[in-house]
Amino acid sequence: MTPYKELSKEQLQAMKADLEKQFEEVKAKGLNLDMSRGKPSKQQLELAMDMLEELKSTDKLKCETGIDCRNYGLLDGIPEARRLLGEMTEVSPENIVIFGNSSLNVMFDTVSRSMTHGVCGSTPWCKLDKVKFLCPVPGYDRHFRITEYFGIEMINVPMTPTGPDMDMVEELVSTDPAVKGIWCVPKYSNPQGITYSPETVKRFANLKPAAEDFRIFWDNAYCIHHLYDDKQDFLVEILDQCEKAGNPDLVYKFVSTSKVSFPGSGIAAVAASERNLNDFRKHMSVQTIGHDKINQLRHVRFFGGIVGMHKHMKKHAEILRPKFEIVEDTLEKELSGAEIGTWQNPRGGYFISFDAMEGCAKAIVAKAAEAGVKMTDAGATYPYGIDPKDSNIRIAPSFPTVDELKLATEIFVLSVKLVSIDKILS
Ligand code: PLP
Repeated sequence: MTPYKELSKEQLQAMKADLEKQFEEVKAKGLNLDMSRGKPSKQQLELAMDMLEELKSTDKLKCETGIDCRNYGLLDGIPEARRLLGEMTEVSPENIVIFGNSSLNVMFDTVSRSMTHGVCGSTPWCKLDKVKFLCPVPGYDRHFRITEYFGIEMINVPMTPTGPDMDMVEELVSTDPAVKGIWCVPKYSNPQGITYSPETVKRFANLKPAAEDFRIFWDNAYCIHHLYDDKQDFLVEILDQCEKAGNPDLVYKFVSTSKVSFPGSGIAAVAASERNLNDFRKHMSVQTIGHDKINQLRHVRFFGGIVGMHKHMKKHAEILRPKFEIVEDTLEKELSGAEIGTWQNPRGGYFISFDAMEGCAKAIVAKAAEAGVKMTDAGATYPYGIDPKDSNIRIAPSFPTVDELKLATEIFVLSVKLVSIDKILS
């Protein structure tokens, strides 16, 4: 395909007229589709329905310590759930505390506690003049909303194919004591699907922060969310690396079964050093008498262990893979060589990240909405909702049916072409 920029004004105008006709035709199909979030489809949710059949009789409600899961107790979670989530995120059960139904909730609480009570006895962040967080971009909008909510200044750090720009991270973390944290999605990142390289993980573990209360917020949301059997990314385990580097308290790992079982009704956990977990426990023991152990038990019984969980994830992959392929094949066929956008084909996770020509993302998202496709707001993948280049768009292929997705991708591609032509002609 000839790059659009090399086409004459007349050629572009003729193309535009034809594309507009096609756009009106697809618009007339009256699609009304919300693709703004990375939600599992109904078909995926069906996969875990048998979980609701577990625990039907009273004798099944005891965990392995003999405690009745219907009652209070075991603030850290039942041992078998700590083991399961430990295996999921590759740490030993002693380094795991099970929380409630959402890891994002735990991340919010962790920032909130640091603001009001400090980190392991240090000055509460709310008493400091300035608190800053590093935000690898593009990144997860809900991370950025947490730090924005607490008035924490966010600093963009560009993502590279091996993870965040580590020269910049090392420089900022080691020289500025106001930098207290960094948001990371280290495996199949949201939205690019990038997995941090071994070198990146090692550099994280060896950071020498200027602030003693600096922590890495390592959101391992997509740790077992592969799309392929034969093409998988591997992530070096960071807690172990931190320990080896003499920095055992540097990282909090967050994990949940939201996109393994049921989003909003899964189980979440934190993996961290003993010192950090004791800090969490101090707060948690005031906040709650215990989390939902019935749900923990249900998950353990349903998956039976990490092997069962991996098998279950393969069923998710079989549903998700064709959807990713629809988007990737359409982008390749329609846009390859046109030089009006770039994208990544991830090996796991929930998203495809698309970078349009500068200054086009907002207009593309608005154009797709005109034909009934609601995408994640342009800018959402950046702190404060501001993408300096107005270029990044997050595509979430999981929720629509295959037929809906085909049409939605067609609409997206037409929107990209039309907006890009306008941009070139302007
Ligand atoms: N972290 C990342 C990177 C996500 O993409 C999501 C959901 O999309 C979450 C966390 C939410 O996790 P939870 O449902 O455990 O709160």
